Amino acid sequence: MSLHIPFDNSYVRLPSKFYARLDPMPVKAPHLIRFNTELAAELGLTPGTPEEQAQIFAGNLVPQGAEPLAQAYAGHQFGGFSPQLGDGRANLLGEVIDIKGTRRDIQLKGSGPTPWSRMGDGRAWLGPVLREYVVSEAMHALGIPTSRALAAVATGEKIYRESGALPGAVLTRVAASHIRVGTFQYFAARQDTDAIQTLYRHVTDRHFPQAQTPTELLNAVIERQAKLVAQWMSVGFIHGVMNTDNTAISGETIDYGPCAFIDVFHPQTVFSSIDAHGRYAYDNQTNIIVWNMAQLATALVPLMPDTEKAIAEFTEAVHAMPETIHRHWLAIFGQKIGLAQATPEDETLITDLLTRMANERADFTNTFRALSKSNARDQFTDPTSFDTWEGTWRKRLEAEDAPDALMRAVNPAFIPRNHRIEQMIQAAVEGDFAPFNRLLDVLATPYEDQPDAADLQRPPEPSEVVQETFCGT
Ligand code: AMP
Ligand code: MG
Repeated sequence: MSLHIPFDNSYVRLPSKFYARLDPMPVKAPHLIRFNTELAAELGLTPGTPEEQAQIFAGNLVPQGAEPLAQAYAGHQFGGFSPQLGDGRANLLGEVIDIKGTRRDIQLKGSGPTPWSRMGDGRAWLGPVLREYVVSEAMHALGIPTSRALAAVATGEKIYRESGALPGAVLTRVAASHIRVGTFQYFAARQDTDAIQTLYRHVTDRHFPQAQTPTELLNAVIERQAKLVAQWMSVGFIHGVMNTDNTAISGETIDYGPCAFIDVFHPQTVFSSIDAHGRYAYDNQTNIIVWNMAQLATALVPLMPDTEKAIAEFTEAVHAMPETIHRHWLAIFGQKIGLAQATPEDETLITDLLTRMANERADFTNTFRALSKSNARDQFTDPTSFDTWEGTWRKRLEAEDAPDALMRAVNPAFIPRNHRIEQMIQAAVEGDFAPFNRLLDVLATPYEDQPDAADLQRPPEPSEVVQETFCGT
């Protein structure tokens, strides 16, 4: 049976100022790299043949029922406001209702220029496409809300970047929606209260049906984002570009650019080449998400008839967020050291371990994984630093029922390590997709020991360390 996508589109029914209708731009020689059969089934797709998948997910063939469009949005980038960003290289084919009844976007990324491309070519090269494919699927397997990857297609065209000519590719991603903090900001910047109202109704219907007021919506988004960032911290994830246009209202991780996972733990770690001041450093993510929610709050003010009341309620909501993040952080990091329900008294046990890890250059992932295996001390340059923490910890663990099983369930054995991603991209550029496929297979079950994949658990050798990551353009 030929490829069929049961579209049920809603965004295109919103006023035309929300988007620009346009088809993706065809490419020269589409060739399928990977198709996510499991996700396709979840979406209710009839998968069709690899040839059809290549045609559709390159943008060469617009599938029946698609109503392709580029979305309008604004955003604060590194703190500075851009009133007009929009999808400059993405195309929303449409939406489907998945087998669980959830509406999901199907979007091509790297699908050609749009009215919002500015100086860009609307394209993506193979590297960032494979990086987003692997990292987003790994995040999903880790249990962290995220957009997903449905397909990757090579375009047969060259893309020109600073480093020269590179192979082009298109990623198909699936998200609960691609509505961002910046989508609200786009209309707020235009003082278009009707549009903010329309977007508010669309968003509450779609993501937060229980929210009855703008304040309830704000609190619901804050709750999801607070948990999300705590979850990122728990696996050593650094998003890298937490601009308000890259912060989804749904609470999913979106827009994987120069993102990276920490190897050796250090709280101020930054990988992104464009983040010179560490705005989006590992441990600053908890501050930045609060700042981003304050921008959302500002954009929602026109929805409230009484501005003073709006400011009072929204300020309270934003001010309460650090405590909410901290509550999630404590719960998750408590579990990481085997405590089913950490209390505030347990906090120093966690921070003490993290400080020792930072001082003694311990690998973040391997240290936590080793806690349930009694060889964690080997991760520290000075193992006695672990030994002097271990006594207090073991004593505390006596009150727990099954700490080892808990720790194994929340401390992954496998994360997409930066050097493996780089090596995978290198190989793919040379036409070898085996490392890409292997990474995906191993990272699909990150909490299981996989003795055949021990090489993927190993931190980088000094010569393999990735110092800097680049935006996905
Ligand atoms: P990002 O930092 O990837 O979230 O992108 C920020 C803005 O730049 C968005 O409006 C993107 O659509 C746009 N953009 C990024 N790369 C390109 C490109 N190659 N061509 C056109 N627009 C782009
Ligand atoms: Mg973006």
